[in-house]
Amino acid sequence: MHCAYQNLTDAKIIMNYEEKISQLLIVGGTHGNEMSGIQAVKNWQSNVCQTPLDTIYNGKIHYALANQEAIDKCVRFTDEDLNRQFTPDKLKEFTKTDYNLNNEQKIAHELNKQYGPKDKPSTDFVIDIHNTTSNMGPTLIILDNTEFYKQLARYVKSEMPESIILFENNQSYSEFCYLCTIGKKGVMIEVGAQPQGVLKAEVYNQTVTMTEKVVEFVQLYNDKQVNAFPEVEAFWLGKEVEYPSTLEDGKTEKLAVIHENLHNNDFKPLHNGQPCFQLFTGEVITWQEETTYPHFIGEAAYYKANIAFATASKIKF
Ligand SMILES: [Zn+2]
Repeated sequence: MHCAYQNLTDAKIIMNYEEKISQLLIVGGTHGNEMSGIQAVKNWQSNVCQTPLDTIYNGKIHYALANQEAIDKCVRFTDEDLNRQFTPDKLKEFTKTDYNLNNEQKIAHELNKQYGPKDKPSTDFVIDIHNTTSNMGPTLIILDNTEFYKQLARYVKSEMPESIILFENNQSYSEFCYLCTIGKKGVMIEVGAQPQGVLKAEVYNQTVTMTEKVVEFVQLYNDKQVNAFPEVEAFWLGKEVEYPSTLEDGKTEKLAVIHENLHNNDFKPLHNGQPCFQLFTGEVITWQEETTYPHFIGEAAYYKANIAFATASKIKF
């Protein structure tokens, strides 16, 4: 696709600088067993890190370990997934005085009060840090395609070529259930493969680097110094694919495992006719749709929900 700004001599003029991003919220522990974000936030807070973030950003940085109870127990959540509680409708429900809030609903309500509220956010930008058991590499999840997010994605990709840009827009930014959407702007960092409850050096380092790059971009944006980069390769979230299964007495029983040729091959093309699942009877199930780019392949947190992977298409962003 033709990029109009490529011909401009002063590429900087394409960026529409709105108001400054004067404060950031950086969150770890939205899921209590995702150790890289939890550790990174603790380390930035206590200044045990190679690059203190306040050396690359002039504004105010707030840190939060979102779900302390889940972190203490080293579980994803105690009652329900915190990162699904931030829809406008749910947040409204949680304000009702007669509503008996569970752990995650209470946290969502409190975070929204402190750093939102979602319909009129006091926080300019939220970076919510996750990790996945899937082999997704350092992935930046972006929920809107305004010029700001495009330039952010291009900056991160140019500084960190191994990074993956994953774009989700199956609903509008403000309708998403994700914690990061309580800010005026927000992104998620999702790095894998890392088992639940474990910290791996490569994943930790990629998490820290990607966060630094996002924060660097915010400072460049505040300084009106964003260089216009050409479009980059990105992936556009499609749908979730379930494990082949049966329903027995209201219980889902899996009939297959993800095929070994597919497992660990996140964001690699899966073509029509290629192996997708291996039935426990030995038969191989092949992909019967057009080429897709599977990710969250075999993510542990989605196993119970019977989700085997998500599809994506390749786009320019
Ligand atoms: Zn997570």
